[in-house]
Amino acid sequence: MLLKVENLQAEIDDKQILKGLNLEVKSGEVHAIMGPNGAGKSTLANVLSGRDDYEVTGGSAEFDGEDLLELDAEDRARKGVFLAFQYPVEIPGVSNKLFMQTALNAVREERGLPALDMFDFDEFAKAKIELLDMRADLLERSVNVGFSGGEKKRNDIFQMALLEPKLCILDETDSGLDIDALRVVANGVNALRSPERSFIVVTHYQRLLDYIKPDHVHVLYNGKIVKSGGFELVHELEENGYDEIIKQYQNQN
Ligand code: ADP
Ligand code: MG
Ligand code: MG
Repeated sequence: MLLKVENLQAEIDDKQILKGLNLEVKSGEVHAIMGPNGAGKSTLANVLSGRDDYEVTGGSAEFDGEDLLELDAEDRARKGVFLAFQYPVEIPGVSNKLFMQTALNAVREERGLPALDMFDFDEFAKAKIELLDMRADLLERSVNVGFSGGEKKRNDIFQMALLEPKLCILDETDSGLDIDALRVVANGVNALRSPERSFIVVTHYQRLLDYIKPDHVHVLYNGKIVKSGGFELVHELEENGYDEIIKQYQNQN
């Protein structure tokens, strides 16, 4: 098991958001998390990646045999947890290339690999760009400065490819995902899918999941996972919405 989350409880500003969440992710699996707005999906993504505005008040999360909750966000990243699409910072004057080279070398150090110099990094980056079928232009710009929404997405997927994480957590924001961005995200996930890598894809776009075809689909509601299934659950949700599932859950509890 790559990730084992048991009875996870978390608060923000003294408000309990996660209320006993269970989730198990094996290596190579793609899990989609869906659920109504305010359910706690982003909270889950943020708690797993170690953002510090959240307070974990109970339960456990084990990642690759280690207590994930003991590690700060940076250590989690070095150990192979990657969170995409959250609050991309703009860093004027720092080239995206240098930024990514630095991030990659921190991860490589943790894995006992030698640092890549500029030349080797260029080669490495070029191979990833080809894998993703992207253009290299973003590398020459300042980090995120003046990037359009689509460019930020593309850049995040590129960074994900470079860092070769074991667990990729993609948290789609509620705002629009146009067809190009959707394709970038779907192609990225599909290109990077491997037996050594797992994904948690938070989204309410059925279209995105049609492209990705997750192995497991979960509905998060009121801080818990209330239903899990296979890909067919996406279409069940598309047809019936969340109401039916929430009602079933409430009747059982
Ligand atoms: P989702 O991603 O499923 O839409 P979130 O995890 O963003 O849900 O939010 C879950 C709940 O936590 C919501 O009720 C939201 O209002 C609340 N929440 C999120 N962020 C904060 C915050 N910074 N301060 C207070 N409440 C928050
Ligand atoms: Mg929301
Ligand atoms: Mg959210």
